Amino acid sequence: MSILSSVKRHIDAISTGLKYLFASSRMTVRYPEYSITLRDNYRGMIRYYKDKCISCSLCARICPADAIKMYRKAGEKKMYPGINYQRCIFCGFCVSICPADALEHTPVHDIAWESLEEMIFPPEEFGREWVSPALEEGARRVKAVFDEKRGLTHVPE
Ligand code: SF4
Ligand code: SF4
Repeated sequence: MSILSSVKRHIDAISTGLKYLFASSRMTVRYPEYSITLRDNYRGMIRYYKDKCISCSLCARICPADAIKMYRKAGEKKMYPGINYQRCIFCGFCVSICPADALEHTPVHDIAWESLEEMIFPPEEFGREWVSPALEEGARRVKAVFDEKRGLTHVPE
């Protein structure tokens, strides 16, 4: 790549950044003052139902991010999946392939952890129920709409 084209690409990147810095409509929202209402099919945190699981390991085998690992507890014959959210890219492949409906996405996405270790869920914890943090008082709900000219925007519900 020539120096000239390299400089041009840098200028293009900076001007794109400046354009979005001053644009009147932003793609991001000021969370938690504003909260986006998600669609029903949103791929958020995954809920695992061990009672339905048949230990086929398809979820672990299809995962492109190597986020699912099969665990065997001492004394148990079968292996059950656990998830590492450090790696998960929320592609939904594991949920789609599960033949027993033992995995489902929840609409919960606003979860924070304090350490990387907390992001690893063995089977018992993989089955936890996910709940979004309560909205701040006065928080306003918005929904995402697509605008031909401005791209993705957010409007009050
Ligand atoms: S959603 Fe995708 S990346 Fe995450 S655990 Fe499932 S298959 Fe792996
Ligand atoms: S694909 Fe479904 S049934 Fe198979 S191991 Fe994973 S969660 Fe269990």
